[in-house]
Amino acid sequence: MEKDLRDRTLDELEKLVVSLGQKKYLAGYLFKFIHTQHGRDLAALSTLSKAFRAQLVEHGHFISHLKTIDTLTDADGSAKYLFELADRERMETVLLPEEDRRTLCVSTQVGCPMGCVFCATGRIQFRRNLTAGEIVDQVDTVEEHAGRITNLVYMGMGEPLLNYDAVLKSIRILNHSAGKNIGIRHITISTSGIAPAIERLADEEIRPRLAISLSAPTDALRSKLMPVTHKYPLAELLEAVRKYQARTGQRVTFEYVLIDEVNDSVTHARLLVKLLRGLMYNVNLIEHNPFSGCAFTGSSRPRIQRFAATLKDAGVETTIRLRLGQRIKAACGQLQAGYDPRAQSKRE
Ligand code: SF4
Repeated sequence: MEKDLRDRTLDELEKLVVSLGQKKYLAGYLFKFIHTQHGRDLAALSTLSKAFRAQLVEHGHFISHLKTIDTLTDADGSAKYLFELADRERMETVLLPEEDRRTLCVSTQVGCPMGCVFCATGRIQFRRNLTAGEIVDQVDTVEEHAGRITNLVYMGMGEPLLNYDAVLKSIRILNHSAGKNIGIRHITISTSGIAPAIERLADEEIRPRLAISLSAPTDALRSKLMPVTHKYPLAELLEAVRKYQARTGQRVTFEYVLIDEVNDSVTHARLLVKLLRGLMYNVNLIEHNPFSGCAFTGSSRPRIQRFAATLKDAGVETTIRLRLGQRIKAACGQLQAGYDPRAQSKRE
């Protein structure tokens, strides 16, 4: 996607414009056109001369755009978008409107190689990484349909930290004041726990919020739910978080998917508190959402309340995420983009 103008930061556009013998400031017009005016057709960019537009086209430059295949809306206000990419692969994006914010949950890969057993995306084969332009366009296309997005979570299909460069580049584009200008503190990357990438993130000049999906307080249990634990056991993952916090001073969110009778006892909650001692964090409890072929069920409300109360009693800031979008299979862990799940694997 080297020629896709949506895939470039403002700096990169400036270099391109200068390399074509044009004035650097013209890159600002291009950037604004793409990111604030839903610009897709260079012919409509009348602030650039016809000759320059023709030059861009001659050199093969274009502005990519996602094809919206389907939009489902839930009575709770959430919406799920099914997008087709230029190579006809598909992925989904979810809009979660709440009282004071409009959050978009964006995808970073087609499929996901991580295989978390409580997640529908983990059942479909990993196909490819998304480009920064394809990530950015999820925001642009939804904004065109549904208005301004205030918050972003990189928590849709895929493991964002396995597509590190494109994810960081998309954040630079979306956060830029000449473009969508989404505040960096309103952007969250959610990872299943790629320890080296967490350390790398600490050295970036741009600092989105970091969330880590934990979902178990011991390696024995977590490795059954999240195979990533075999590669990065909890000790290594939390050491990376410690280093991240030492360098950034930033608190992290630990996400915990509550599965009935699997990881939701008071003992599990106590072990979790012990495990995370010494870190700056809050916990986000997520009710497990069902999908076809999944053997697990979500925890009952009393078990969720008991788990949350145990954490709160220990002084842990704890929130319970509402089940938005469940009826349209847009809730956490339900995205499949119409792909067939692969054959049941050894993971179960
Ligand atoms: S929870 Fe996230 S990392 Fe795990 S399989 Fe699903 S999309 Fe991938």
